[in-house]
Amino acid sequence: GWRSRAAFKLMEIDDRLGLIRRGSRVIDLGAAPGGWTQVAMKRGAAAVVGVDLLPVEAVPGATLIEADFTAPGVDQQLIDLLGGPPDLVLSDMAHNTVGHRKTDHLKIIVLIEIAADFAIRTLRPGGTFVTKSFQGGDLGEVMGRLRAAFDRVQIIKPGASRKDSAEVFLVATGKR
Ligand code: SAM
Repeated sequence: GWRSRAAFKLMEIDDRLGLIRRGSRVIDLGAAPGGWTQVAMKRGAAAVVGVDLLPVEAVPGATLIEADFTAPGVDQQLIDLLGGPPDLVLSDMAHNTVGHRKTDHLKIIVLIEIAADFAIRTLRPGGTFVTKSFQGGDLGEVMGRLRAAFDRVQIIKPGASRKDSAEVFLVATGKR
């Protein structure tokens, strides 16, 4: 079975946009407990390299490491493990909320920015970036950078994402 509710969100986004191709080489940021990695492997990815602060139970065919993605050198470690540039960078990273709205908001934006910068630096031309995001987030700067680096940036609210949550997903396709 799928290890997370998040797996259903990714499947829905992929059903709509066809992001995971047979042979895709995928990076999964914030991979625990492994739902998105399972979906990517099941849908024909040739390789998935995932990272999380928490250990992730093995997924056949995938490489999963326990590390802080924001720590120096972890980005390069992921690319080395993948053996080259990815076709698809996924980020479902979320920190433990502290309950202070403004602080939580800033932390979310930092994770999105770090993931977006990684995707822009490492993706193969034509590649795709998917990240968890939030409606009403102050994302002007990162949206601008994504729009400049990709052909198209879409905001998607999957049906599997709770209606009363501000969660949405940014999908950037056609890396230039
Ligand atoms: N997509 C996953 C799935 O389908 O199983 C669910 C991911 S969960 C919503 C968010 C994850 O992001 C948590 O497991 C958390 O530990 C991880 N995370 C948050 N900050 C991180 C960081 N700096 N580096 C690595 N993982 C991080």
